[in-house]
Amino acid sequence: MNAPQLMAHGAVPNEAVGLDIHAHSDVSDYETTGKPFVDNAKMSARNVNVFYGEKRAIMDVSLDIGENEVIAMIGPSGCGKSTFLRSLNRMNDIIPICKVKGDVFLDGENIYAGNQDTVLLRARVGMVFQKPNPFPKSIYENVAYGPRIHGLAHSKAELDEIVEKSLRRASLWDEVKDVLDQPGTGLSGGQQQRLCIARAIAVSPEVILMDEPCSALDPIATARIEELIDELKERFTIAIVTHSMQQAARVSQRTAYFHLGKLIEVGDTKQVFTMPAHELTENYITGRFG
Ligand code: ADP
Ligand code: MG
Repeated sequence: MNAPQLMAHGAVPNEAVGLDIHAHSDVSDYETTGKPFVDNAKMSARNVNVFYGEKRAIMDVSLDIGENEVIAMIGPSGCGKSTFLRSLNRMNDIIPICKVKGDVFLDGENIYAGNQDTVLLRARVGMVFQKPNPFPKSIYENVAYGPRIHGLAHSKAELDEIVEKSLRRASLWDEVKDVLDQPGTGLSGGQQQRLCIARAIAVSPEVILMDEPCSALDPIATARIEELIDELKERFTIAIVTHSMQQAARVSQRTAYFHLGKLIEVGDTKQVFTMPAHELTENYITGRFG
């Protein structure tokens, strides 16, 4: 990316003030308030910028996601939550005009390194989407598909075991154990979303990214997913985008507030919701915009 369009804030051109042009040309003029970094980082984003063509949707975001924590990502519609989330497992790669700059580390290894196998990466960093999207296959096959392509089972019995374990962990087994051969798309919305969670879990991910996983669900189905998230954090690291501040408060230990592509504030969830340190966070959580 060339410098001019990045200097969107009317900054004095660097040459004019005698600065090294490389020092500031790629970095917007802000700092994240709070504690974006943790000691036990599972994933670390550093200076992540995401572009759609010429438009920069994520500006220089640095953030750690701690092992076995649930981190909530909140902010007004269009602020870049989904875009940032997708940069954590290279799902932006499949959008042709989208370019990611910066580094994202998983256990200290750069997922944007040239030799990264993105299929394997997306098994390690799984994703659950806004709208439940089961494959047009049986309930069993929805869960068995990933373990099969990744060669995780050596026999039918082993595959059966993975399917059962994943459905149990997704808190769906009791409801579907007698209808495993029925299409996944025939389940209720909440069941479909738990099926998608089972599908993500089946390949033994380390991190699960959830992009507004309850926004298409009723309150009872939502409550079940929230309970599930609480159980899943024992085994997995979870980043969840949500437009519901109540949900963020209920399920997460840390909260990150985004605004116009910038990571404004990160902190312990309770602190962010009760004593936000940044004015923009306060405006959002008190409902002045969003
Ligand atoms: P959020 O999830 O917080 O609502 P998004 O990450 O979806 O925000 O979008 C951030 C910005 O990037 C918005 O301005 C949006 O219009 C733009 N954007 C998102 N996806 C695309 C895309 N596929 N092509 C072009 N622009 C996009
Ligand atoms: Mg979104």
